[in-house]
Amino acid sequence: MGKAYFKAGFLERARVSFVQVLSEHPRTPAALHYLILVYEQLQQFDQALEVSESLLELQPQSHPIQTYLKCRIILVDPKLTVDERCQQLCTIYRETLSLGYLIFDYLFTHRSVLAWEIFDHSLANRLSDVLWRLSEEKIDLAIISRNAYLCELFTARGALELAQNSSVFELDTLIALRKCTNSKATLQFEYGCGECKQISFIPFHRCPHCHTIDTVSPILTLSKEHFEENNSFQ
Ligand SMILES: [Zn+2]
Repeated sequence: MGKAYFKAGFLERARVSFVQVLSEHPRTPAALHYLILVYEQLQQFDQALEVSESLLELQPQSHPIQTYLKCRIILVDPKLTVDERCQQLCTIYRETLSLGYLIFDYLFTHRSVLAWEIFDHSLANRLSDVLWRLSEEKIDLAIISRNAYLCELFTARGALELAQNSSVFELDTLIALRKCTNSKATLQFEYGCGECKQISFIPFHRCPHCHTIDTVSPILTLSKEHFEENNSFQ
């Protein structure tokens, strides 16, 4: 019943239903799992973290949920400054090497120098969209030029000339276009889940379909640059 309420968006009814199930059968992983999801949607991350303690006892492999919830709490805690948030997220990344997309997205948005300082090169592909949108003044040429994929990505973007080609079809096409024309092509991104393979139009930290955490991966597609369409109205 709670599941049906949750899927229909009746979060308060779903919460009451799962709390009732758990009061009778406290060791029910599915009810704990859904109660966490309900609290997340209600933005009550502290309660979600509390419930996750019980889930962790039953399913020790569910520890990424706690890391994820701690990150969400840091992001919404009004007592923290942006610098404190960044420092705490850095610490979580160093300790767990997980939630890389969430953490670096926040760091690149708010403190790009710090983001480059602790940049994990194994995340270069997964952060393609975040890096693609990075403003010019946040670019760290020294770090980019040491990473073959980043050289290709930023050459394709058009700001730099660091690669002649790419093994990624979309980047290779853009690099070739930049060389010969005043290119009107760019990249657009969709987001695939590494677990259930469903695709979303916006990035996610917990898959909206299968609810797995930290499985987001951007999918590159070629598209026309929007300003060109706007100019056609003038
Ligand atoms: Zn999924």
